[in-house]
Amino acid sequence: MSDYYEVLGVSRDASSEEIKKAYRKLARKLHPDVNPDDPGAEERFKEVGRAYEVLSSPERRAQYDAGGDGGLNGGFGGSGAGFGFSDIFETFFGGAGAAGGGRGPMPRQRRGQDAMIRVQIDLSEAVFGGAKELNFDSAVVCSVCGGSCCQPGTSPKVCDVCGGRGQVQRIARSFLGQVMTTQACVACQGYGTVIPSPCLECSGDGRVRSTRSLNIKIPAGVDTGTRIQLSGESEVGPGGGPAGDLYVEIQLKPHEVFERRGDDLHCTVELPMTAAALGTTIVLETLDGPQELDVKAGSQGGETSTMRSLGVTHLRGTGRGDLFVHLSVQTPTKLDDEQKALLRQLAALRGEERPEGRLTPAQQGVFSKLRDRFAGR
Ligand SMILES: [Zn+2]
Ligand SMILES: [Zn+2]
Repeated sequence: MSDYYEVLGVSRDASSEEIKKAYRKLARKLHPDVNPDDPGAEERFKEVGRAYEVLSSPERRAQYDAGGDGGLNGGFGGSGAGFGFSDIFETFFGGAGAAGGGRGPMPRQRRGQDAMIRVQIDLSEAVFGGAKELNFDSAVVCSVCGGSCCQPGTSPKVCDVCGGRGQVQRIARSFLGQVMTTQACVACQGYGTVIPSPCLECSGDGRVRSTRSLNIKIPAGVDTGTRIQLSGESEVGPGGGPAGDLYVEIQLKPHEVFERRGDDLHCTVELPMTAAALGTTIVLETLDGPQELDVKAGSQGGETSTMRSLGVTHLRGTGRGDLFVHLSVQTPTKLDDEQKALLRQLAALRGEERPEGRLTPAQQGVFSKLRDRFAGR
């Protein structure tokens, strides 16, 4: 096997762009249509195509650099280093080790890979649902060859090394004696066909990279980690094969005021001591707009009011969670003389000038309530 870098006339650290350029130049020069009378040119043309197919794929190139054959034989590092484990395995278990697996040629068309995109959404989009425009880099079918990988007007030819089987048999010696192994054909890389004139637009891949834009619907009720599956919206596969699935993973941005727990929302509202003692009606700016909340007389700090169905829409099923409003009663500070006098008067009226410091039972105190809150009870 000749050195693929030498075949293309590039250095071993050539960039993928340099490899592509070198290939295009050589392919034009050596094309059989350009050199009808030179039989050596066609052979070199094929060789250039093989070298390019390996060096243009990052995985195959890495495998080739590591001493393999660039994935031509698949399995465990190829067969370059003699008799590999996969060969023995294959001999005893019926030969699934060749590229593509199984018998017969490997299809050029393969399914595209799935992809995942993360999308950040606001709390109101999680509550009510919404729409998003996604712009992302993907692979689409090459418009020049329509995914055939061939220059327009040309078509793949049956591989004359393996006769279209995609595999060749080989006698190998091992500690078990002589064994017959089946391997992917090196000339066609297991496809059973060769492409004499790869499409120049997509370099014979049948697809090109492109930025796609997609409008997606965000269902109400999604949360961080929710994945929306969009079938067939990911990249097109090699040879213009069917597109993979696109997964959109939701990331919910934290809200300034409302904290989500399951499908319920929690917020804290500050209330002056006087209002908590006398009772009042407050207006809260909820995600559904301004909503009135009655605060009963004698409300205590840490108490919670529930506003039904102002939480997040249930993702499956109907209805919404609730909004829990936690009261934070504010003890007045910076009292002027008149206010101090009034409060002293109130304390005197209530006999609270010298409170006795009564201890509450352990299970009813503020401490245990806080503890329950952190434990999610
Ligand atoms: Zn193309
Ligand atoms: Zn072949």
